[in-house]
Amino acid sequence: MSGTSHSEIQALIDVSARIGRDPLLVQAGSGNTSVKLDGVLWIKASGKWLAHAAREEEFLVPVDLVEIRSCIQRKTEFVAQYTSPSGRTLAPSIETAMHAVVPRPATIHVHSVNAIAWAVREDGPAHLADRLAGLRWRWIPYVGSGQPLAREVEKTFSNFPETEILVLGNHGLVVCGEDAGTAEKLLLRVEKLLAIEPRRAPDPDRALLRRVARGSDWCLPDLEAVHALSTDAISRTILAEGILYPCQAIFFGPSTPVLASSLPVSDASERHEFCHGARPRFFLVEGNGIIVSESITRAEREILRGLAEVVRRIDVGASIRYLTQGELTSVLSAETYRYRGLVENSECATWKEAASA
Ligand SMILES: [Zn+2]
Repeated sequence: MSGTSHSEIQALIDVSARIGRDPLLVQAGSGNTSVKLDGVLWIKASGKWLAHAAREEEFLVPVDLVEIRSCIQRKTEFVAQYTSPSGRTLAPSIETAMHAVVPRPATIHVHSVNAIAWAVREDGPAHLADRLAGLRWRWIPYVGSGQPLAREVEKTFSNFPETEILVLGNHGLVVCGEDAGTAEKLLLRVEKLLAIEPRRAPDPDRALLRRVARGSDWCLPDLEAVHALSTDAISRTILAEGILYPCQAIFFGPSTPVLASSLPVSDASERHEFCHGARPRFFLVEGNGIIVSESITRAEREILRGLAEVVRRIDVGASIRYLTQGELTSVLSAETYRYRGLVENSECATWKEAASA
């Protein structure tokens, strides 16, 4: 590898680590970054956390661009495995095809909570037109990850080749540029323009939550911000009506579990399991705060925090475009799920794994 390539890759790793440390941009293993050099796409390996980019020796995997593009043309899913110098088998991110069709060297994809708070609204495009006026941006309505998303991204760039920013409906944000540093600068600029002041939420009723959790394998979360999911009435209403984006379903199932303050948590947990086939990972205890499973993983905790941050940024009365039943079924289907589980998080059991465990 040439010296320039080496420094481009190092720059991408540095940018990835910085982005990964911001929970408002990336949660757990979500988000991915890439750089194209001499016909090779260097992309985040599936399951890696951007936050760990600087200390992971095998953070990026090389993928032949011609190979991915021919898969996209043949409409076959790109499945590749790469054996690292240390002998480990790694797979490229599920979004490899999407990165491959971006006609710029560097691409950053994040699950920015500000972007998602706009991207779940029916009137999202109109608001973005104001906020991102003058920038080269495009809106892509929700489409599943992998090939379907790659095809939409490719279409967008072929119609509007000057595009630098993509807002993905019910999903997140993509920015690109000539190198990782330029893409990062653009990302930070877009973030500022999309920023929403989150609603302040009332304090949780900790005594009540402790009473509800007493003697069970449930406990109070260590992240205060997640109580807003329940103590903020608007957030509660938003969550009651549907699922906003794929990670929410992948980690927590097809509905948000609510517990009456008077009900023992074990009963509720069983009842929920009966309905949805998996033990919930958290409960909104009416408007009093939330309790989480004692076995909640780091990844689930991060995704939960992201959810609280998104929901607190959605206006009261905003018309929301939830994932449809068909989209949810597809997100939670075995194949997509298995693949996504790898991508989103290699360190823990996710909703479906918990269901079958
Ligand atoms: Zn994504």
